[in-house]
Amino acid sequence: KNLLEIDARISVCRACPRLVEWRERSAETKRASFANQPYWGRPITGFGADFPKLLIMGLAPAANGGNRTGRMFTGDQAGDWLFRALHRAGLATRAEVEHAADGQKLFGVRMFSAVRCAPPENKPSIEERDCCAGWLDAELARLLPFARAVVALGGFGWDAILGAVRRSGGTVPTPKPKFGHGAVAVLSTADGKPLNVIGCYHPSQQNTFTGRLTEKMLDDVLSRGQELAGL
Ligand code: SF4
Repeated sequence: KNLLEIDARISVCRACPRLVEWRERSAETKRASFANQPYWGRPITGFGADFPKLLIMGLAPAANGGNRTGRMFTGDQAGDWLFRALHRAGLATRAEVEHAADGQKLFGVRMFSAVRCAPPENKPSIEERDCCAGWLDAELARLLPFARAVVALGGFGWDAILGAVRRSGGTVPTPKPKFGHGAVAVLSTADGKPLNVIGCYHPSQQNTFTGRLTEKMLDDVLSRGQELAGL
């Protein structure tokens, strides 16, 4: 399957009853500040280049962010942080993102999440993560031949990419490398190419408001990812 076909299939998936209910209820009730806007209310596909060297692995869309706009990291503060950093690194055309048709483009980068539907309290269950892993595997099967590095956002993203590479027939060092901001794990893909995974604190408000993640820290990780990806 090509990426467009995978995206089309993801966008109509209803495999997780709790998440389907939550994504649709959030789209009906809407946050007051977005009351006049249409909500997407469906799964969110990957976004970016078709033949990327650098991947960005996220957790799941936010109920009033990606679940509203229909595009990853678009419409919430975490996404604003990430896209601004990608723009500073020369990897995105726009510093500010507004909606799914704002013309944003990524260069050599593709982002996607471990879970494609917005979960209550941003916390998918283990069963939901495992249920969505099939989409991650399908997308990675198309991307791993080109990818040389992955920025994993948070411990959830880190575990998701390590698990997916292992399922694809690649090699993950033992003992399993631990997530940390700036930590680098060197994996190899099924065809024997090195794949560097770089840990990064998730740019959620919880981390950015408290100063646990600063813009400089995010810039440094992206720059390392860029270097390891050869971008
Ligand atoms: Fe389907 Fe993934 Fe959404 Fe579950 S989280 S309904 S598997 S797209």
